[in-house]
Amino acid sequence: MIQFNALLAGFLALFAAAAFTRYGLTRANIGHLRRHGHLVPQAFRDEIDGETLARMRDYTVESSRFQSLETLVDDAILLAVLLGGVLPWFSGRIESWHLHPVWAGMLFIGILYLVSMLLEIPFSLYSTFVIEKRYGFSTTTLQLWLIDLVKSFAVSVILMALLFIPFFALIHFLPQTWWFVAWVFVAFIQLLMIWLYPLVIAPLFNKFIPVQDEALRERILAMARKAGLLAEGIFEVDAGKRSRHSNAYFTGLGKSKRIVLFDTLLATHSHDEIIAVLAHEIGHWKLHHVMKQLAAMEAVAFAGFYVVYRLMGWPQLYETFGFTELLPYTGLLLAAVLLKPLVFFLTPLGAALSRRYEKEADNYVLGLIGSTRFLAQALKRLAKENLANLHPHPAYVAFYYSHPPLAERVERLQKMDSTHQP
Ligand SMILES: [Zn+2]
Repeated sequence: MIQFNALLAGFLALFAAAAFTRYGLTRANIGHLRRHGHLVPQAFRDEIDGETLARMRDYTVESSRFQSLETLVDDAILLAVLLGGVLPWFSGRIESWHLHPVWAGMLFIGILYLVSMLLEIPFSLYSTFVIEKRYGFSTTTLQLWLIDLVKSFAVSVILMALLFIPFFALIHFLPQTWWFVAWVFVAFIQLLMIWLYPLVIAPLFNKFIPVQDEALRERILAMARKAGLLAEGIFEVDAGKRSRHSNAYFTGLGKSKRIVLFDTLLATHSHDEIIAVLAHEIGHWKLHHVMKQLAAMEAVAFAGFYVVYRLMGWPQLYETFGFTELLPYTGLLLAAVLLKPLVFFLTPLGAALSRRYEKEADNYVLGLIGSTRFLAQALKRLAKENLANLHPHPAYVAFYYSHPPLAERVERLQKMDSTHQP
């Protein structure tokens, strides 16, 4: 039986606080857009007309409303499962089969993962084939979508086995010190994944080839040489087979480090703009942003593992949610559920760090190519193509945005360019 006590009340209060904060931020963001969304920011006047602006507004409102609905449904299901006594019943069934604790744990989280994945399918279908189609982004087919689903499911199963079998084994064999060893182990797996992702996982979904345009490749080579990088790490990806959204990113570790340019970006931007976008990504590379972000995450994770360890040894946690036995896998799940709203309130810290790195990478562009004019131009074009929100609410930005808001960022780049003496 679920016990209504101080722990449950505290959890529900925190859970509600997170849900209301999320809802309030989305509402404020949409309200802000409704009030200011009819004005094209000064810096965008040459690129964006009234009709595009209206489409940007509609797309932002529609996609953020849909996202809110999905989160609301997720929250409702989580509470229903937690308070409805489903989990104690489920773990009771698993325990009646007398499996080794490691396999019992794998079965428990494996089935929960499968259910959550199935629940996500209708949302993914609607977002891909209704919203993204309506605004002319989605180019995928149902067949490709299904293949992606099967592949990502297979990858998840392999990764979960790789992560959780050793994890449950550590809990079983090192009941006092597992949290520290697990922290080291998970950090190692994360490093391994950052290294492997561009080599093994990303190629399962897309083709990565050297940039095809000869003249552009020459310029890329020259710039990479100037920055002291190997140009073998610069790729073009066939992202356009799924969506018209355009982008570029930096990923990898050691020899697998690479910058990836979407074919959609290459098709719609001038060489000067592409070089500027690339210079920004080279900035992330040279300034070691991936590793710095990982280090910050590991510091938080260290505290997180210790808290989870302490929570898992606390009988009241189990009793509150209707469990009669202290099983590691149920303890792990309950600790994760309990920490979920707390982790949500850490979102602004990660976002602020990421925005700082974005500014650093923008500054790097000026040093490498002597001008930020073309980056500003590329960002304007990207904003238009991706129907970005040009009027986000400042609180929403502070909480969620991994990049500075576009109007602010473009203005800053233009100011940097005009005050820079080559
Ligand atoms: Zn960036």
